[in-house]
Amino acid sequence: MQHLVDSFGRQIEYVRLAVTDRCNLRCQYCMPAHGIDIVPRKELLTFKEMYRLIRVLTELGVKKVRLTGGEPFVRKDFVKFLEMLSYNDLLDAINITTNGALIRHHIDTIEALEKVNNINLSIDSLDRKKFAEITRRDVFPDVYKTLELLEESRLNLKLNVVVQSGFNTNEIVDFARLTKEKNIAVRFIEEMPFNGIGQREMKENWTFRRILNEIKTEFEVQEIQSEKSSTSRNYKIEGHLGTVGIIPAFTRTICNDCNRIRITSTGTFKNCLFDDGVFNLRDFLRAGASNEDLKELFLSLVKEKPKDGFVAEANRKKGDVTESMSTIGG
Ligand code: SAM
Ligand code: SF4
Repeated sequence: MQHLVDSFGRQIEYVRLAVTDRCNLRCQYCMPAHGIDIVPRKELLTFKEMYRLIRVLTELGVKKVRLTGGEPFVRKDFVKFLEMLSYNDLLDAINITTNGALIRHHIDTIEALEKVNNINLSIDSLDRKKFAEITRRDVFPDVYKTLELLEESRLNLKLNVVVQSGFNTNEIVDFARLTKEKNIAVRFIEEMPFNGIGQREMKENWTFRRILNEIKTEFEVQEIQSEKSSTSRNYKIEGHLGTVGIIPAFTRTICNDCNRIRITSTGTFKNCLFDDGVFNLRDFLRAGASNEDLKELFLSLVKEKPKDGFVAEANRKKGDVTESMSTIGG
């Protein structure tokens, strides 16, 4: 089997696929209050096209896929797509990132899919009012219910908490405290400027180091060994069932071991979150590309993977990073 290896010898085993650019929430760090300009439906990859791209990638050594968006559960028949993707025998794991507001009734079906073991749930506040301010939608009770149901399920649950100056930094310790009784991983994410030009003035800079120091004001933490390609640095708090982690999304100290590529909802191939898109796979597919053509293409595209997110950002032709994570797929 040929493998996807970049020019730094990194083997690509993980693809993040945005299944839609639509979302039911309007998180202030992700998009403006009125939302982003969504693309016409025909410009989105179809599920069949997604299945085929993933199949070809798995024939080149990709083992895991993360399905994200936009909000994946906003797309009609997303759960059927999960079932369809489960038939790919070369795929080890299907992970999902969701805001959790719409998934309550799907948890049983998802639990029955043996390749789906990990769910990342985004939740930025434990206070209903603040949650509504951040997401611009009053859905905290639904999201928290999802958290509880997922916690009871067999699925591994990770919480994604974007640390936002002036909004939820006073809840970092509360989120860490959740891990005492709950066997979950709470991961704090550095806020990035991918906000669809929503007006977010970041007053202070909450970096990895500062977040860690904030946790340490209350708890003694011990770093735990993480998978080499992990996006977070992870810690155990004495006596707690779960773990806490920090994702240095903006300070980018994790790029060395990156094993990921991305495909946006419109089929743009990305080697790095910070690049501005490398190739339009959708048009290539719709022009009649064969699986062999696709393989050749992927093998050559990953050779362009930049060393790290800083190089990717410097190489951008389309200017500063301002596009919404909802269009890229977070
Ligand atoms: N809608 C789903 C959700 O919110 O989980 C999936 C898509 S969302 C774009 C994926 C992740 O990106 C979420 O955890 C979200 O908090 C994070 N995210 C979005 N914009 C971000 C930003 N500007 N900085 C840091 N993280 C961001
Ligand atoms: Fe939607 Fe997720 Fe962006 Fe929030 S972070 S607006 S839930 S895509």
